[in-house]
Amino acid sequence: MSDANRPSSAVGAADPRYEALATRGNNKRFTARPEEFRVVTTTAEVVAAVGDAVRAGQRIAVRSGGHGYENAVGEPGVQLVLDLGEMRAVAFDAERDAFMVEPGARLLKDVYGPMYERWGVAIPAGNSNTVGVGGHVQGGGYGSLCRAHGLTVDHLATVEVVTVDAAGEVRAVVATREPDDPHHDLWWALTGGGGGNFGVVTRFWFRTPGAEGSDPAALLPRPPAEVITSTVLFPRPGLDKPAMRALVGGFGRWHERNSAPDSPYAHLFASLVLLGRNPDPEKDMGAVLVTHMDATRPDAERLLADFLDEVAGQPGLAPVVLPPETVSWLDSKKALGDAQDAEIGRQKVKSANLRRAFTDDQADALHTFLNDDDHANDSSLVALDSYGGRVSTVAPDATAVAQRDSVLKVLFMNTWQDAADDAVNLGWLRRFHGAVFAKTGGVPAPDDSQDGAFVNFADTDLADPEWNTSDSPWHELYYKDNYPRLQSVRAAYDPRGVFGHALSVRTP
Ligand SMILES: Cc1cc2nc3c(=O)[nH]c(=O)nc-3n(C[C@H](O)[C@H](O)[C@H](O)COP(=O)(O)OP(=O)(O)OC[C@H]3O[C@@H](n4cnc5c(N)ncnc54)[C@H](O)[C@@H]3O)c2cc1C
Repeated sequence: MSDANRPSSAVGAADPRYEALATRGNNKRFTARPEEFRVVTTTAEVVAAVGDAVRAGQRIAVRSGGHGYENAVGEPGVQLVLDLGEMRAVAFDAERDAFMVEPGARLLKDVYGPMYERWGVAIPAGNSNTVGVGGHVQGGGYGSLCRAHGLTVDHLATVEVVTVDAAGEVRAVVATREPDDPHHDLWWALTGGGGGNFGVVTRFWFRTPGAEGSDPAALLPRPPAEVITSTVLFPRPGLDKPAMRALVGGFGRWHERNSAPDSPYAHLFASLVLLGRNPDPEKDMGAVLVTHMDATRPDAERLLADFLDEVAGQPGLAPVVLPPETVSWLDSKKALGDAQDAEIGRQKVKSANLRRAFTDDQADALHTFLNDDDHANDSSLVALDSYGGRVSTVAPDATAVAQRDSVLKVLFMNTWQDAADDAVNLGWLRRFHGAVFAKTGGVPAPDDSQDGAFVNFADTDLADPEWNTSDSPWHELYYKDNYPRLQSVRAAYDPRGVFGHALSVRTP
């Protein structure tokens, strides 16, 4: 394209805007340096930009919130990055009787805040304030409301996606959850198939299945007016190996027994964060347990107290229990997100879905690595988050999220600042995760106790035979039996392979 015809949204390497776009991603281990960025703001602009790229034979990547953990957007060979970060509108669409959310919308500022303050509703999405809807929803999207209301995709009614057919024709397709919609399979693939696979999502519409009428306040979950939040600290000196076994074992066993969808505990969300060594002794905490309980449920205070007594009150533990506070739902969400978003720098993550508590052997591996001084992290952690509840009421093939009977979602993460420390930190997290899942080839291969990994916590090591020696290939860990259908959808909607990255669904 000649410079005269280039839209002002096109940003080449010589443009003063280029560097900020190149370094926009949250994981500072990666930058994106394509020939050009297009900062698009409408579906028509996306159609035009994708058309230009297809005609020029360029490889495309798509970015919304920039919070992907792997390098899907900045892979070598990507020539055009479509940046949808400015597409942040959230509105009630009276024609579809559903909430329209653009992919660049950030969870707190654009989604939770306006949806709750204006209509009193929410989608049960993630525990970050800054993650973008674009990648998040396509990975399933779980957060503190998921035990009460299911996954974000369980409320996804319709998507608009810009796709490229075999002839190179670019068009915007609207796909719905209605079974007789000719594009129903495309909707299905976007309910957990992972970002960057099938086309460019330009709009999502949310409405809870079975919701009736057209009053917006009745069409999505209503978060509680207030939440009781509790924090319990476990100082490192008291968290020896037996105590670690008691803590992670007790937390897991409690979740095994209390994660049915009709349990009163479907309204409790807890995150047990086990921490690696911090060089500052004042800050060197062994673990922190943060719990949110819906304050409006009958007996909420007693339920929370019983939970804390069981999990933190086990013999051998020396917890410091801070006084619980009752706060608005929005404030509770903001606090959870602020804590999650505080880790900034170069990062690596890994994940697991658990059906059962970690075993004593696994607790010992957690203890050994988190007490290891021999690495250069700013921070390293393992977060065990409550899962289950209403998540388990949806069939494994009803959406692309196959893991529906886990009770815990686990994130392994380390963060550092200096590129010179990449190798030591990557190696450390890989050995750590491999040791925890040593009995199943270094990964959480599906069995009675565990159920694969989480595509939103993307980890390319799962596709590397050095780190995954199990019989479960990466796509089984993420998608299980849903993978062949995802492959068919990719073949139908991206037959030329215009989209895609290291961990994307391969065509059959
Ligand atoms: C601090 C932090 C906290 C998190 N907390 C949670 C949590 O509580 N729950 C949870 O489920 N996940 C969580 N995640 C993971 C997060 O949901 C994923 O990383 C998600 O993919 C980020 O989406 P994004 O749009 O911000 O990222 P991006 O980097 O923009 O995109 C991620 C992937 O999606 C693709 N993509 C983005 N937009 C589009 C689009 N419009 N069309 C097609 N493909 C697209 C990209 O190509 C890329 O492959 C967290 C991540 C971080 C960094």
